[in-house]
Amino acid sequence: MPRPIAATVDVAAFRHNYLVAKRYAGEAPAFAVIKSNAYGHGLLRCAEAIADCADGYAMLDFAEAAALREAGIRQPIVLLEGGFEAGDAAEASRLGLTLAVHEPGQIRMLELDKVERPVDVFLKLNTGMNRLGFRPDQAAAQFARLRACPNVGRITLMTHFARADDDVGIREALGRFDSAAVPADMPHCVANSAALIRFPEAVRSGGVRPGIILYGCSPMPASHSAESLGLKPVMHLQSRIIDVQQVPAGETVGYGGRFTAIRSTRVGIVACGYADGYPRHAESGTPILVDGRRTGTLGRVSMDMLACDLTDLPEAGIGSEVVLWGRGMPADEVAGAAGTISYEMLCALAARVPVSVL
Ligand code: PLP
Repeated sequence: MPRPIAATVDVAAFRHNYLVAKRYAGEAPAFAVIKSNAYGHGLLRCAEAIADCADGYAMLDFAEAAALREAGIRQPIVLLEGGFEAGDAAEASRLGLTLAVHEPGQIRMLELDKVERPVDVFLKLNTGMNRLGFRPDQAAAQFARLRACPNVGRITLMTHFARADDDVGIREALGRFDSAAVPADMPHCVANSAALIRFPEAVRSGGVRPGIILYGCSPMPASHSAESLGLKPVMHLQSRIIDVQQVPAGETVGYGGRFTAIRSTRVGIVACGYADGYPRHAESGTPILVDGRRTGTLGRVSMDMLACDLTDLPEAGIGSEVVLWGRGMPADEVAGAAGTISYEMLCALAARVPVSVL
């Protein structure tokens, strides 16, 4: 008998969320960020769900982009970390990819490679993340070098915000970005989900790059719930109760005895643990649905199991349906209670969990 845990991916919800993102984007092209296997949801199934309406896609590596091309996807694809080795520019040209360029070695690669046709480029500026990119005062020189290179086609100026969810952070970064001495008519692409939702000034003609909202989660759940943004959950993680324990007051539950029953407690054991991708740091009280009713987890999450409180759910028992996250149990809430973010939780869904498409 297989374990009762399973995930479903609702591709219609993904498509719905992409169309929500497009509404915020207006005329600007929306590049669906589907890196990391579409944030754990399955690269091709997500890409194909929007193939008829997507303006473009953004992801990390050549292998993922090649898989999209093989599947017949023709829209622009931006590689957010560009290429680094001799031959990468030629490969980008062959596959029709746009490369994000953030360090001088990549420009050299573009200059030296032999390409079939010019490669479009996103010139990345570091506006405060201090991770990738050129400082704004270096932009003019890098732009000039790229513009002089016959292997380079359209150049878009981009950045990625370190603090897109806070007004001061985003204004500071946009100020730095806009100080770059590059031609005024150069297209810009700066907005991730948080900036797209909150900052119309971040919606620029070169496009926007929404990620997390496509998966039905909020980039700032404390102030904007996914539901209030009109988003639908895409991933649903379900399992079942596989055992029930009546734990007397004073006894503890799970490894390390982290939960002590203050009353006689009916404990349901769920076939889902951290080896399935459930966050191990979820504390007692992390919300969970059993037979459609909300209750909380108890004690430490184990590798293959976790415990939940069934004391006030007397009808629940072995075989009861459990929703870890998805419809009725927002991933943002579970992630928040577990001290993490929905991004990490969704990406961490383990390969051993069978996934079906809704
Ligand atoms: N753009 C870049 C460069 C990113 O790295 C990411 C994700 O990390 C995104 C856009 C999408 O961000 P979000 O998922 O917050 O919308």
